[in-house]
Amino acid sequence: MLVDVHCHLDHELFSKDIDEVIERAKDMIAITAGVNHESNLNVLKLSKKYENIKASLGIYPLDALEMSDKEIDNEIQFIKKNSKNITAIGEIGLDFKEGKNRERQLKILTNIVNELEYLNKPFIVHSRGAEKESVELFEQLNVKKVVFHCFQGDFSVVKRIEDNGWMISIPCIVVRSKHFQNIINEVKLSQLLTETDSPFLSAESGKRNEPFFVIETIKIISRIKKIDEDEINKILFKNYQNYFC
Ligand SMILES: [Zn+2]
Repeated sequence: MLVDVHCHLDHELFSKDIDEVIERAKDMIAITAGVNHESNLNVLKLSKKYENIKASLGIYPLDALEMSDKEIDNEIQFIKKNSKNITAIGEIGLDFKEGKNRERQLKILTNIVNELEYLNKPFIVHSRGAEKESVELFEQLNVKKVVFHCFQGDFSVVKRIEDNGWMISIPCIVVRSKHFQNIINEVKLSQLLTETDSPFLSAESGKRNEPFFVIETIKIISRIKKIDEDEINKILFKNYQNYFC
């Protein structure tokens, strides 16, 4: 069984044909991630409607910068209240490329992690332009389960993720990214997962992505690790079960 640990099925690009998108993904698990309150509500609706769609609730770092302390606290309480209906917490993280106020981002992320770690669910982390800082924050807070999504950091930081027993999810852009091909080559299979970040990060530039396209990533992992695709699927599904279930 295939797994997409990170996608955004509530995105407006799916509004016209979500049933078909999920039909193509009927033999797989897809974890759809919320980025703000409205998106979290939609994610919960999708996971209730479709059995193979799992919910992850979060506050995206750039959305968090638009929110007051009170609003952030309300959203954290909302996530706690829905803890039985979710598989993971995210999308959360840091974005030093687009987000200006670094101090505030660090404070908000620390708060989210401290408040929600007791739920014992993986955090799905965005770390654009803040790869090292993200890893350091989760190390300082001594967090057990972290999935670094679309991780662009250099290899010394990749190694720390692996050594901490955390996971790296490989997006479909691996077909045209030497960086992700290198990660597959260097990192143990036990620390890898697959994701699409649909509708973004498509294998083919400009095309809308969807969960079913994790097959593209599986092909590359199979080729680099020299293990056949069925076996790769089994191992990655086990990784998902060990970490999320
Ligand atoms: Zn995302």
